[in-house]
Amino acid sequence: MFEDETVDIACPKCGFKNSLLVRELEQSSETHIVCQGCQVGVIVEASEFQHRLHEISNEVEAMQIQAREAGHKSPKPRKGDFQI
Ligand SMILES: [Zn+2]
Repeated sequence: MFEDETVDIACPKCGFKNSLLVRELEQSSETHIVCQGCQVGVIVEASEFQHRLHEISNEVEAMQIQAREAGHKSPKPRKGDFQI
C-alpha cells in the first residue's frame, strides 16, 4: 500500500535526510544505506520502520477522514521523517 512512497531516513551522524523507498525497506529485516551527506553507513531496521509505517498509516487515515469532512478528495500523504 505504501510501496511507492518514500521515507526520509535522518542520518544519526549529520542529520542529512536520505530518501528511501518503502519497498526497499520491506525487502529485508535490515537495510544498509550510505548517507548522502557524510558517507557514513547507516543500518535501518525494518522492525523500527514497521512501527513508523504504522504511525504513518494512522496519520494518513486521519488525514483522509479530515479531508472527507472538509470536502477534499485523496490528499497526498506527507512524507514521514524517520528518526533513528
Ligand atoms: Zn550523514
